[in-house]
Amino acid sequence: MGDVILENIVKQYEDVTAVENINLNIKDGEFICLVGPSGCGKSTTLETIAGLTKPTSGEITVADREVTYLPPKDRQIAMVFQNIALFPHMNVHDNISFGLRLRNFDSKEVKKRVENAAEILQIKEILDRMPDELSGGQQQRVAIGRAIVRDPEVFLMDEPLANLDAKLRVHMRTELQRLHKELGTTIIYVTHDQAEAMTMADRIAVLNKGELQQIAPPLKCYNEPANQFVASFIGSPSMNFIEGKIRSGGFESTHINVDINIGNYDDLSIGDPITLGVRPEDVYPKSNSPEIQSQSDPIDAQVDVLEPMGDEIFVYLRLNVGAEDGPTVTETSSADQLLMSVDPDSDVSTKDNIELVIDREKLHLFESGNGNAITHGIGEQTALNQNR
Ligand code: ADP
Repeated sequence: MGDVILENIVKQYEDVTAVENINLNIKDGEFICLVGPSGCGKSTTLETIAGLTKPTSGEITVADREVTYLPPKDRQIAMVFQNIALFPHMNVHDNISFGLRLRNFDSKEVKKRVENAAEILQIKEILDRMPDELSGGQQQRVAIGRAIVRDPEVFLMDEPLANLDAKLRVHMRTELQRLHKELGTTIIYVTHDQAEAMTMADRIAVLNKGELQQIAPPLKCYNEPANQFVASFIGSPSMNFIEGKIRSGGFESTHINVDINIGNYDDLSIGDPITLGVRPEDVYPKSNSPEIQSQSDPIDAQVDVLEPMGDEIFVYLRLNVGAEDGPTVTETSSADQLLMSVDPDSDVSTKDNIELVIDREKLHLFESGNGNAITHGIGEQTALNQNR
């Protein structure tokens, strides 16, 4: 069974802690994405699972066997890297079967496995071609074919689509999901691209500075981020954050006032600094928000910049409306600006003065300082941080 368990994994390079006490419990057949900004420890974590890097401390179990110090070949895993590195002088068939032939598999078994992989990857008709006759997507499929024929318990993939162009990348995402369904094998996939993680994974593990921030299904990370880092990293464009403080019965900042039931949070007192988070799609022009059950008080704003994206418009708003000839959004402090996304047919123009409302069910509150989530929405109190 392809379970992968990481217990208290630490990887220390001389003065850098690349991985800081990571615990993961990945179930057989799961598709997990390790996601986070460059340098957050994704590749190092994957390399410790692969056996390419030894952890400084901690224990790794793959397929019910402790493998912490075993060489890669004894771990029941297969890796696919960003750099495809096919052998240029071998055709596709020989590239895929190379590892098996090296291990002296008999020719019947080799044939069976290559045909099976070619079938799954839909590359049967190119088995005779040389690598320089293949497109980028076909080359990546061949690299995945090399991993499939090994029949591993776990696939480890390190940014395998990063070198492909944007359109092909989106196509290959679907292909990988199909592959995962067909094979049912555990996949641990590293990417810095949150959209890739959101669309493919059963659960995503968000890392920052070597530490696991949250592991949960994509929508849970989106709707109930464990902290401000996850809230800002997951979702594009990023969530708005407004610094303010607690007042009796709600949140207040220079420009925004929202009623929130904060009576249940024993650690919070009136006047405490706090950060309100709201996604651009949860901010509405008041005139266009009849369907929202639970609105904030109106917020005065002026449209500063419009970014039409085709299927939506990003509206950059300035909240210090009274300030005559105020600075543009790029020059104001974050407390004075807000990003809203609206339908493409919305009637908004630069310099319009509008009233906004926030959907209170969709707002988030974070502790100032450590950024931990306090609550999501204003409905029933959510059990916080249960996936951290
Ligand atoms: P990511 O894959 O998220 O971009 P990495 O796991 O590659 O991040 O790196 C995590 C941190 O560890 C970075 O600060 C990186 O510079 C450092 N690091 C990685 N490999 C080494 C190494 N061999 N020697 C020293 N520092 C390293």
